[in-house]
Amino acid sequence: MASNEELQTDPTALTLYKDDIEFKKEIPKDLNIDCSICLAVILDSPSQASCCGQHFCGPCIGKVNACPQCRAVGDKFKVFKDTDFERRVGSLEVYCLMNWDSDDSCDWSGELRHLQRHLDDSCPYVEVPCPNHGCNKSGLLRCDLKEHVKKYCPMRPYKCRHCDFRDTHKFVTEIHYDICPLFPVCCPLNCSKGKTFPRNEIEDHIKRDCPLQPVECTYSWLGCEEKPARRDLNRHCSKQHKYILSDVCKELCHESQKMADGLNANETHLEHYKTEQGRVDEKVSQLEKKVTLLEQQLKTNEKSHNERTRHLEQAVTEMNRELQQKIRALDRERANLQSSCNKLELVLLVMFIVLVILVLVIVLSNVFLLLIIVVACFIYYYHKDLIFLLILLHIYNS
Ligand SMILES: [Zn+2]
Ligand SMILES: [Zn+2]
Ligand SMILES: [Zn+2]
Ligand SMILES: [Zn+2]
Ligand SMILES: [Zn+2]
Ligand SMILES: [Zn+2]
Ligand SMILES: [Zn+2]
Repeated sequence: MASNEELQTDPTALTLYKDDIEFKKEIPKDLNIDCSICLAVILDSPSQASCCGQHFCGPCIGKVNACPQCRAVGDKFKVFKDTDFERRVGSLEVYCLMNWDSDDSCDWSGELRHLQRHLDDSCPYVEVPCPNHGCNKSGLLRCDLKEHVKKYCPMRPYKCRHCDFRDTHKFVTEIHYDICPLFPVCCPLNCSKGKTFPRNEIEDHIKRDCPLQPVECTYSWLGCEEKPARRDLNRHCSKQHKYILSDVCKELCHESQKMADGLNANETHLEHYKTEQGRVDEKVSQLEKKVTLLEQQLKTNEKSHNERTRHLEQAVTEMNRELQQKIRALDRERANLQSSCNKLELVLLVMFIVLVILVLVIVLSNVFLLLIIVVACFIYYYHKDLIFLLILLHIYNS
């Protein structure tokens, strides 16, 4: 036995009412299986009140503080789980809820405690949802589910019957079939009743084969603008253009005459051109001869030019050599002159010293003479004119 605080609630418990259930045998008189709180059959943790011995569902009696039957409260009102009552209620023999006395209903029967599992897992007449995503089929019975999923569900996986495209049955048949390149379609001109072509070949059929497609007349190049159906083309030509061949022959004869005339005229032109070409050839050969002659002259000129250049080069080399020799001789002469100049300067220096000594001797005897000598020395110093000095000396002596 457990107190009301310890009672557990089973969230998956089935709510069954006595009037909905068909019992195989009558319920014993001493077994009151209805909960006076929720009015359902007491299957979820059956519990007994200590005050009056009444039974309730565990979750129902757990929510109240006084006995709903006798109004007892406090210590008088205690609740205990009744496993014996649970066993008695659970073992009552019942028929399935989906049994409505016809061949098209569930013939299951068993203990009340197994009814919920039967309905959840195996009863073929319970409504179930379709497992295919997006399918909202309602009223689907478990016994029909397999067939629905396999054959009728619009959301079942489906492969196009004409190509390898895959999607749901609904998409393939409602959308893809309108664009599938291999979907069989009839000729839009209805040329062959019942015959179909893959959608991607219909254009070719119309362009090349369809007997009802209007086509250009074989003689459109001769101005016929009619467009008979392909199958009527031969008939049209033989009927409408019966005499066209003789007309064409006449036209061709006329054309060939024109061409022959043109050919003759061309031959005359050709003759004329041949004569002209002979003349041109002659001129060309003359010009070629001239060119050869000029080339020979050019070669000769080149040779003499080279000869002259060589002579000139030799002359220039010779002159260079002579100039070098002359430069060397002049250098030697200059060196000689330089040495004789040096000697002359030395002689002049000696003479000047002697003169100075003489002058000093004379100065001692004559101041006037000294002045003259000083003047002479200045003149000599600035003019280096020896001859002038000698003249002065000569004047003095005389
Ligand atoms: Zn209840
Ligand atoms: Zn009570
Ligand atoms: Zn059933
Ligand atoms: Zn479905
Ligand atoms: Zn396809
Ligand atoms: Zn056709
Ligand atoms: Zn025609």
